[in-house]
Amino acid sequence: MSENPLTEISNGILLFVPPSARIAGWRRSGNVIILNNSDALYIIDSGGPSVRNQLVMSVNNLLSNNGRPVHCIQTHGHIDHMAGARELQKNFNAEIWASEEAIPFVESQAPLEIEMERESLIVAFRELFTAPSWFVKAAIWVALGRTHPISSVKLLDKSSNIKETGFHPVELPGHHQGHIGFYNEDESILIIGDLIDPRHKMKPILTAPSSDFVGMKSSLEKVIQIAPEILLPGHGEPIIGEEAVHSAILKAQETMEVSQNKVIEVLESKPSSLPELSNLLVRMGLGPGDVFRRMFIHSILRYLVRIGKVSKQQSSRRKTIFSI
Ligand SMILES: [Zn+2]
Repeated sequence: MSENPLTEISNGILLFVPPSARIAGWRRSGNVIILNNSDALYIIDSGGPSVRNQLVMSVNNLLSNNGRPVHCIQTHGHIDHMAGARELQKNFNAEIWASEEAIPFVESQAPLEIEMERESLIVAFRELFTAPSWFVKAAIWVALGRTHPISSVKLLDKSSNIKETGFHPVELPGHHQGHIGFYNEDESILIIGDLIDPRHKMKPILTAPSSDFVGMKSSLEKVIQIAPEILLPGHGEPIIGEEAVHSAILKAQETMEVSQNKVIEVLESKPSSLPELSNLLVRMGLGPGDVFRRMFIHSILRYLVRIGKVSKQQSSRRKTIFSI
């Protein structure tokens, strides 16, 4: 017998985290939240490739043959959050929903949509990943297993009937294109997707090539304004208690401020490339993981270039130099 993957957070609000979600590396799954408190079953995010079979089993148990409609709503289009959508569609005729900007990502079911991210890149792809894009794509593909595109992902708009669960969509930009969360005022619960990472000191998750530093700032501010009692993040444990929520967001805001200042400080020493900038920042305690750190730095640089604080020069096809 495997342990029950469902934990009840509040009336009919369930957190689905099977043991296989905790495996290391690329195959790790994001959290899935199941709202079992209305006439339909609502599933917020559908997890990574490693949990899809268990998700089908859990949903099957919850439905117990009473034929309720199933809706799956994606916070954003990253594979560790959306890989179960196809199974939910196939097994339960689930309707899949996403924000307008996230729909192309959810439909592609691709581990990394480089083409759709490309216009956000201010450096050559190779500087971010140290490998050609075809290799990165292939490596992720092999690590995750085969994925298949899905169709008929519906636009989540204001008229969406998720409101029958007490939750309504909240725009939380920053992590990825069209990233959204969900807020339930009566329960004072905010589902935040990939906003901050409780596993890594509440670090804001600016780890996609198109991650938006300014959007993240506004989202963190929005959470402070909402002041919920419970935060349900896309990875790691729930954050419970108004004070714990508040200090988690303050920590994330501080990380952004400190990291931005560190990047500016390190640029003073005129690093000759993004990898060198990244290495210098490791020594100043900016982590974790080289690829994620580079993407985080990229989001800061993108912002600093946009506001004109930093200029960039293309010294070769694969080398961009940033200066103050
Ligand atoms: Zn994500």
